[in-house]
Amino acid sequence: MKPDNASEQLVRREDHSVYETAEPVLYSVKDGVATLTINRPEFHNAQNSQMTYALDAAFRRAVDDDQVKVIVLCGAGKHFSAGHDIGTPGRDINQSFARTSMWYDHVNKPGGEFLYAREQEVYLGMCRRWRDLPKPTIAMVHGACVAGGLMLAWVCDLIVASDDAFFADPVVRMGIPGVEYFAHPYELNPRIAKEFLFLGDRMPAARAYEMGMVNRVVPRAALEQTTYDIAQRIGKMPRMGLALTKQAINHVEELQGKRAAMDAAFGWHHFAHVHNELISGDKLGGYDAKAMASSQRPAADPGNGADNKTESDNLES
Ligand code: ZN
Repeated sequence: MKPDNASEQLVRREDHSVYETAEPVLYSVKDGVATLTINRPEFHNAQNSQMTYALDAAFRRAVDDDQVKVIVLCGAGKHFSAGHDIGTPGRDINQSFARTSMWYDHVNKPGGEFLYAREQEVYLGMCRRWRDLPKPTIAMVHGACVAGGLMLAWVCDLIVASDDAFFADPVVRMGIPGVEYFAHPYELNPRIAKEFLFLGDRMPAARAYEMGMVNRVVPRAALEQTTYDIAQRIGKMPRMGLALTKQAINHVEELQGKRAAMDAAFGWHHFAHVHNELISGDKLGGYDAKAMASSQRPAADPGNGADNKTESDNLES
């Protein structure tokens, strides 16, 4: 939605978070394909609650629109997403929003309850909703797809990546066993998933393709064309056939234990948040955005040519 005036672009929140945009997600439809663009390029599309709720609303809008056959999710600017917001002026974890699940509001809850309730809603809950929505989704990934960024790509049915894209989940450095939507051993085989998490290194798009985590890797200049060509081809299939096929395959993953595995991992994830707070007074183990970025910089770099300074500036567990 367009703001009525410029002053609405800059909204000062009660918790002192300041939004740099009133449109953290852009929405457009062309030829039966809806494009959802996460739109905080200044912060490498770090995900605050303003964005996740806007994204949820945009997915709902695309599902409700009979003209939309296929949904493409992409990021504005240099990167797909650097993860959850732990360091921008728009970090809004103390804000209440109109919730999408039956979880109660997390704001002002004590101890581990605060993050547990929040992450059930904005991370695990929303990701599961998006993963199960009944239209085909394609993540169009370029640049960094880090930590919480992985969650957005993984919930999509297909992933098309440019050859400069890379994937990483470095939150083990915070003492936390991976991001909240714990799909790692489903996206990668378990041994590779362990390497991915233990080292926290970037996985270049080419390697992700070898692992079957992405469907196509193409030069950056061909990313949009390739993605929309695939979207158009899928869009020619019958809507119900696509919805049933998606349900059938997602159901197989549930029979393989994906949902139960994620529920267990979510519990361990929150044990780690609370343990961190007990030991260091900080749920993220003392790692803010800058500390995570600098701790990543000297690490082994697969040499994919991507910007080394900015990929993890805003990632969170
Ligand atoms: Zn968390």
